[in-house]
Amino acid sequence: MSVDVAQPTLTLVSTNDRTRETSPDDSADPIPFLCECDGGECGQSVWLTAAEYDEARAMHATAIVVPAHVPLGHTGATYAERYAVIDLAILYD
Ligand SMILES: [Zn+2]
Repeated sequence: MSVDVAQPTLTLVSTNDRTRETSPDDSADPIPFLCECDGGECGQSVWLTAAEYDEARAMHATAIVVPAHVPLGHTGATYAERYAVIDLAILYD
């Protein structure tokens, strides 16, 4: 299956997963993860709590990005206050 949205590299996702693993589960403080747009080339931080990160990763194929980095025309994104979760299985219209 090919999708027309930049997919995060496995390296980037594993970096964020490692960040999550070294963070306390019960903290309400947002943690700076790497924006996963366009393979992470933008280098910006996207802030999620541990619980928010776990929820975003519970969907099978997602990219977690800063809200402004959702590709134009993509309708499969869920917006939160500090971040957006792109469902990579949803195509452009
Ligand atoms: Zn980005």
